[in-house]
Order: sequence, then C-alpha cells, then structure tokens
Amino acid sequence: MQHLTRRQFLQHSTVGSSLVCSVRAEWRDLLAAESQNTAARYDLLIKGGRVIDPSQGLSSERDIAVSGGKIARAGINIVETEARQVLNARGKIVTPGLIDIHVHVYDGGAPLGIPADPNCIAKGVTTVVDAGSVLLNIAVAGQTPYSDDNPYGELLDLRYANPQLAIRTIEQNRDVILGVKVRLEMNLAGEHDLAALRLAKEAADAVRLPLMVHIGNTHSPLKDILNVLTKGDIITHSFHSKEHGILDDRGRVLPEVRAAVGRGVNLDIGHGRGSFSFDVAEKALKQELLPGTISTDLHHYNVNGPAFDMATTLSKFLRLGLTLEQVIERAATNPANTFGFPKGLGTLREGAEADVAVFSLAEGDFEFEDTQKQKRIGHQKLVPVATVKAGRIYGSASIPVVRQ
Ligand SMILES: [Zn+2]
Repeated sequence: MQHLTRRQFLQHSTVGSSLVCSVRAEWRDLLAAESQNTAARYDLLIKGGRVIDPSQGLSSERDIAVSGGKIARAGINIVETEARQVLNARGKIVTPGLIDIHVHVYDGGAPLGIPADPNCIAKGVTTVVDAGSVLLNIAVAGQTPYSDDNPYGELLDLRYANPQLAIRTIEQNRDVILGVKVRLEMNLAGEHDLAALRLAKEAADAVRLPLMVHIGNTHSPLKDILNVLTKGDIITHSFHSKEHGILDDRGRVLPEVRAAVGRGVNLDIGHGRGSFSFDVAEKALKQELLPGTISTDLHHYNVNGPAFDMATTLSKFLRLGLTLEQVIERAATNPANTFGFPKGLGTLREGAEADVAVFSLAEGDFEFEDTQKQKRIGHQKLVPVATVKAGRIYGSASIPVVRQ
C-alpha cells in the first residue's frame, strides 16, 4: 500500500493540473461566445458538431442545448443568442460523455491508482468505474498481487475470499458499490480459481449485482469460468493473448464464448498492460465476435502507454474496422446499461445528465501498439478537445471567454 505524504499528494496534484492546462488551451478556440444575457434560455450550446449518440440512432449535425445541468434539446439551428455560453463544435465529433467501466483511480490508496481528473475527465470520460472498489474485490485485502512481501497474493489463500464480508460491505455501501470483482490468474488465484469464482458469484448473487471477472493465464479453461456466469456478468480482458483465451488452438472463437454472449454475459476489453492483443482482436472480429464494452483498465503502469486513455483505445478499434458509431456505442451506450448507474448517463436524450464529450477526428498515419508490442498503423485518431460534466465545461473557470 502506497502512503502519500500531504506534500507528495500536492506534488501529484500539480502534475495533474498542468496536464489539465494543456487540454484547456485547446478549448480556447472552441469556446466561441458568452452572452451577457443572464435571461438566456440555455446555459450552454454546443453548436454545429457531428453528434454521434447511438442511444438515439443519431449520427448527424446537431446543436446540443444544456440547461440546469441537463440536456435541454438536441436540435438543428438552435440560435446562439439563446445560450449564455456557446461551444463551437463545427468540424468536431460530439458524443455522450464516455463511460470507462474498468479503471484504477484510487489515487494514493491503491498502488496502481492514478488521478482521474487529468486522465479521464480531461479526455472526454465523464464516468469511470474503479475496478477494485466501486466493483468490490472479493479478496478481503483488495488488489494485492503476489510478491515476496505478500506470498498469499490476492486469493492464493482462499480464506481471503469471504462472501459474507463482501455482502455486508456492499449492503453498507450500496450508494457507491455497483458490482463485485474477482481476478483469476495463476499468480493471483492459483489452482482454485473456480472455487474463488464461485465465492465471488455467491456474493454478487446475494446482493443482485453484476460480477466482473478478470481472465488471462488462468488455471482453469475459459469454458469452465464462463459456465459460472449469468446474464449481466462481465468478462474483462476479453481479447488477451495469454493462456485460456476466447480462441481455440486454430484461432476459432470458442462456442462457449458465443453461448455466454448469447445469454447476456458482456465481453469487456480492459486493455491494460498485458491484456489486449491486435492478433486476437482481428481474429475475433473477423468471426463477428464484437466486444460489448470497450474499457481501458487504465492504471499507473499503462497510462503512459500502451493504453494511454480511452480515446487511444477507441482509435485502435477504428483501426480494427469498427465504425465511429460502433465504437461510441461500446464506450457510452452499452456501458450505461452494464451497471446500475443513475438514469440518463451515456445518452444525449432530452432530460439526460449533460455529460458531453467533444473530439476531433485527426486524419494521418498513427502508430498504435497493443500490449504484446505489436504495432498497427491507423489513419484516424480521436483527439479529446472538450468535456462537459453535468452541464459544466470542465475547467471552464480558467478558460478565456470571447464575449459577444
Ligand atoms: Zn484492472
């Protein structure tokens, strides 16, 4: 466990702020106008962008009007003078604020934890799920990989998996816990991975929440793991290339994987540091096996590559042949339905939370790398340029505003 002194924490925060500043600079051109008119009908107008909102089957030019922290209207030709602030999104992509369902942002608490603000919200991600706390790790000690100091790993001693304790913790924290997490890997759960999985499932079922299962280099074959999972549960690291993946020795998608998807198990990406292979992804997509959700598994050891952020991870899927609409569906629409989030996330419908992301779609030759050091050249890259969270332009307080 990492213990930051207050001084270290402040140093940490300074780094965060400088990252945020560099993003803010890009917003200056976007923030076109702020009217003095306090009686304006809308607080904010995001004008002229190509709005991609798969929840409404929308992929065309729209203006998004925001009022009282909610989406007031998605329309055509909404007049600028009707809004107090106008964000000029012409030539940009406007999407619901992205939802990353696998990150590690317990900064200063968990050894892997990174600060959420500069790495997530500053890059278009308005909701994140910390996969170890918001999804309660079934291991009482939390996420603790094997080391010389900790020879029992996370679940190498099965007594660390205690459903009763997990159930009690969840019942006491229903407002912040959305699911249960279990990590099954030889160095984490040893040969009793199925027993650990069943204990985690017992806890998740008792509180009627989904279970997220980390796979890769498991002792047991994936088909036995999938057997335990039911509708709403999540496999993360789906496109890893370690032992016991989604493909057989000849590269064909296992029938048990299709069966699991068919009964409502969600295949999540969880890119991570060692869990995303272009080769596996290409084979799966060729056989029309698409992930349900795309997440980063962003943490201390991949935030500077190869995962970087949600926009980079999504751009890899553009390279793999998914459309922009398919990518946003898996980064906003589907994640919104994965957990019991408050209603109105992952959509730009009228009345929804005004969480909005603005990207530019850069064209060129971009090198992308998976976690096996395999490289691919893509020709499109999503670049985050602005984020609106609950109606507020993120970091707006210090953005110079051009008045009308
Ligand atoms: Zn993770």
